Amino acid sequence: MEENLKDRLFMKKESGWKSVDENEKKNIFELSKKYIDFLNVSKTEREFIKSARKLADENGFKDIMEFESLKPGDKIYFVNRDKSMYLAVIGEDSIEKGLHIIGSHVDSPRLDLKPNPLIEEGGLAYFKTHYYGGIKKYQWTTIPLSIHGVLVKTNGEKINVNIGEDENDPIFTITDLLPHLAQNQMEKKLKDGVEGENLSLLVGSMPYDEKECSEQVKLNILNILNQKYGITEADFNSSELELVPQFKARTLGLDESMIAAYGQDDKVCAFTSLAAMMELGNVKTTAVCILSDKEEIGSMGNTGMESHMFDFFISEMLNKLGVNRPNLLDKVFCFSKMLSSDVDAGYDPLYASVSDKNNAGFIGKGISINKYTGARGKSGASDANAEFVAWVRNILEKNNILYQVAELGKVDIGGGGTIAYILANKGADVIDCGVPVLSMHAPYEVTSKFDVYSAYRTYKAFWNE
Ligand code: MN
Ligand code: MN
Repeated sequence: MEENLKDRLFMKKESGWKSVDENEKKNIFELSKKYIDFLNVSKTEREFIKSARKLADENGFKDIMEFESLKPGDKIYFVNRDKSMYLAVIGEDSIEKGLHIIGSHVDSPRLDLKPNPLIEEGGLAYFKTHYYGGIKKYQWTTIPLSIHGVLVKTNGEKINVNIGEDENDPIFTITDLLPHLAQNQMEKKLKDGVEGENLSLLVGSMPYDEKECSEQVKLNILNILNQKYGITEADFNSSELELVPQFKARTLGLDESMIAAYGQDDKVCAFTSLAAMMELGNVKTTAVCILSDKEEIGSMGNTGMESHMFDFFISEMLNKLGVNRPNLLDKVFCFSKMLSSDVDAGYDPLYASVSDKNNAGFIGKGISINKYTGARGKSGASDANAEFVAWVRNILEKNNILYQVAELGKVDIGGGGTIAYILANKGADVIDCGVPVLSMHAPYEVTSKFDVYSAYRTYKAFWNE
């Protein structure tokens, strides 16, 4: 038997760390440090876009609206309602040959305040919430939470709110029942143990010092907010306030190989693609980076990927390149290639039974490619063509980037989706390609520093192709 037959024929699926030298390790840890710092000031979609815009400005990108005309090498962006953003580097080739798009999302599962959030019950003041995206409700009780977002007054004045991140700020939490009295709760199914309507944030307990008045604790809270922001209760009606875990993004593990942070789905792919775009020089094919919003609730609305806002951005690009004509936008999309950069479910040995080990994405084994997503019979999947998968594999292999092709869990267990189908519907070749995550959608998610770096290298190689 040929001695290296197995080496030659088997696919290698070993830890990426095995092939990392000291220099490479330094690069990996440096990028992770930047990522951690970025996450700590970018917990919500609005904060992420604000940080992204700042980074883009620092790296010579300009608002497309500032340009009269565009030429190869120009670096542009468009910010959509402070919650989503598109960036591009104009390529040297004719744009009619299509775009190289990388698309992620910057929204993450969380708790939103209701439009009329403030109540007083039993001498305590609460903000009532409505959860956003797919969460396991029990995970959001008894952890420190901070309040992020905006309040907009009828005169248009916008107040940015961020309470709980500064060490001197108060934090907030949602209470849970003590085990001593939780017999009935503990008998319930896990999904019913904490009701959505009970995810109410504890915000106060001190009555306003005035006699002959009901709801004095609520009054006291409103008075504090009025003094701090000049708002009244009705101003909550025009607010977007989000509760996110107060935990800082941190290095995880004695070997410091991992990252624990809130919102890594999908800020890990958003950050790595953004970081890669910042370093692009001249490119052959126009490189486009999408940082979308509302993916976690179906990509609807004017900041979601289903919106025509992205088409508007590309049309504006075609206009300013001076090449636009009827139906050119359709042609450009039909000849485009896209990496839908969203996270994959990492194989978790503690919950091994949900994964097919031979088709799972492993932490630390590189970027994870999902040929298709969907659930139970590929329902709802955007299934990438074999030809396109081969084209992507070729880029990865010639750049020595470790990758794994995986699917999200066992066939009958479940599944998921991304923004991949939206661009595929426009005619582009699209494949899902992102970082495997443990505890996805939990308040604290886990990734491998090796995979974060692999994602960054993948996105850079794709745009430089
Ligand atoms: Mn995602
Ligand atoms: Mn998600």
